[in-house]
Amino acid sequence: MKSYRLVSREAKTEKTLVRVRDAVFGGDRVVVIAGPCAVESREQLLAVAVRVCRAGACMLRGGAFKPRSSPYSFQGLGREGLKLLAEASAATGLATVTEVIDEASLELALEYVDMLQIGARNMQNFSLLRAVGRSGKPVLLKRGLSATVEEWLMAAEYIVAEGNEHVVLCERGIRTFEKATRNTLDLSAVPLVQELSHLPVIVDPSHATGDRRLVVPMSRAAVAAGADGLILEVHPEPENALCDGSQSLSPDSFDRLMAELQLIAAAVGRVA
Ligand code: PEP
Ligand code: MN
Repeated sequence: MKSYRLVSREAKTEKTLVRVRDAVFGGDRVVVIAGPCAVESREQLLAVAVRVCRAGACMLRGGAFKPRSSPYSFQGLGREGLKLLAEASAATGLATVTEVIDEASLELALEYVDMLQIGARNMQNFSLLRAVGRSGKPVLLKRGLSATVEEWLMAAEYIVAEGNEHVVLCERGIRTFEKATRNTLDLSAVPLVQELSHLPVIVDPSHATGDRRLVVPMSRAAVAAGADGLILEVHPEPENALCDGSQSLSPDSFDRLMAELQLIAAAVGRVA
């Protein structure tokens, strides 16, 4: 297995750690990560980056390697998408997070982004978990589609066991018998996992519900339940998104949600 501890990268990783530590491991702050499901174009990404930054997001999300259910769906822009994330980060000052799906995409992402995301479908890809652990970059670990809390924590353990303690857990809904929502948001997992581990726990109401009308109330509920942050899909034109448009917020609704979250965070002793 390849090692990612190259000298030039170590210096870069240190810089990145400081940025993400400030953003995601930020004490009382409820961190909000926002951006499109997939990076689609320069115009799309920069437009949304500027808006979510202005609204108070701490980090920019955007997929360059998309694990789609169908091989014929948009698979992401690959390296071009990563370059656009780096450009949007330079333009706004936002730290960035993107999903890696294998060792090749991991190696590319290390050059361009501040935090690596392990998607729900890869939560038990143990060799990938070890590889992101060795990379030294902060990792956002989504809960698997049908993963128990224990399996999810053990997946985090794989990363930490490689000496990388910068892991953020993300509850993104689990598969149940219910089909009315894309997944079932297990909000009780938030305080439970906070009890069982010292790692920050954030919530992804976009993938948990699949429906933008439910994203706003579930975001409020997540912050009220004590989540350490949210990751939200925001698109400048949700109706034209190449991926997950139905669950993406418009920049205007994101603005309104951010204003509300400040009040809810304050009520539970946090800052949004
Ligand atoms: C995503 O965040 O873009 C994503 C694919 O999420 P999940 O892995 O939770 O389905
Ligand atoms: Mn998505």
